[in-house]
Amino acid sequence: MSVTVIGLGPMGQAMAAAYLRAGYEVTVWNRSPAKADDLVTQGARRAGSVEEALTANDLVVLSLTDYDAMYAILAQAPAAALAGRTVVNLTSDTPDRAREAAAWLAERGAVQVTGGVQVPPPGIGTPGASTYYSGPEDVIEKHRSALEVLTGIEYVGADPGLAALYYQIGIDMFWTGLAGYLHGQAVAEANGISAERFLPHAVKTMNFQYFLEFYAPRIAAGDHRGDVDRLAMGVASLEHVVHTARASGVDPALPAAVLDVFRRGVAAGHGQDSLTSLVGVLKDQRA
Ligand code: NDP
Repeated sequence: MSVTVIGLGPMGQAMAAAYLRAGYEVTVWNRSPAKADDLVTQGARRAGSVEEALTANDLVVLSLTDYDAMYAILAQAPAAALAGRTVVNLTSDTPDRAREAAAWLAERGAVQVTGGVQVPPPGIGTPGASTYYSGPEDVIEKHRSALEVLTGIEYVGADPGLAALYYQIGIDMFWTGLAGYLHGQAVAEANGISAERFLPHAVKTMNFQYFLEFYAPRIAAGDHRGDVDRLAMGVASLEHVVHTARASGVDPALPAAVLDVFRRGVAAGHGQDSLTSLVGVLKDQRA
């Protein structure tokens, strides 16, 4: 029932607060010490150094901007301070950087559990919230109750890079999907349609569940027949979107980028195939 939280951005603060509410003894450390003030008022202990924070508890939660921040912080303590610790690294970065960090920590006698948190800070400690975890399953099981103070656990495998990979895939979809919403809303506003006015239509349009459940088995089976949609139709449709944005005085760069991908799919011979043929076209762009 004790834990150290290093990194007190909005996420780390929400995590430390959740542990305090759950009755844990919480030690905190942050580069800018003032961010710990509220937590100290709520009962957290402020470590005077990184070494003190690490040695206070076997379980150490990291919530930082990226892994460079992790190295910058952990380099401030002697390596011995890491020996025997379980470092739950909830910092997002690339899968390769998560693997490198797990090896770096292992060299110092610590075990990394990699996590990719799927909710914003207000979601921490609420039902339905979840985090992708990867790393040694026995270590995750040992700390299950402590991890579940924050969110539910979605274990994705032993490879320390996997949680980061699942997270990045989700974030890929999230950013591009949300950017699509913002672009559409810019066109709406340019035409006097407020965000509130368009909201019910946006909610309906952004609900992709039907499409995902229809396409996923076909993608898995390599079945890209154009019986319900064709890439050539998508090109014509996107051209209308780009023209509408331009005519509204809105930067068409986002739909134009999608149009470019669709056109490359047509050029590769998939004009009469489904949009799902783009998965293969995009995979072929690997460096
Ligand atoms: P922030 O970027 O606000 O967290 C920053 C933390 O990292 C602060 O404690 C900051 O210290 C520290 N930090 C950054 N650079 C350094 C450095 N060079 N040396 C020392 N400390 C450093 O992120 P959040 O709190 O919002 O999120 C934390 C992690 O959670 C991120 O990896 C994010 O991707 C992930 N996440 C965030 C979500 C969100 O909605 N916020 C949702 C899901 C995941 P200081 O206070 O001194 O600047």
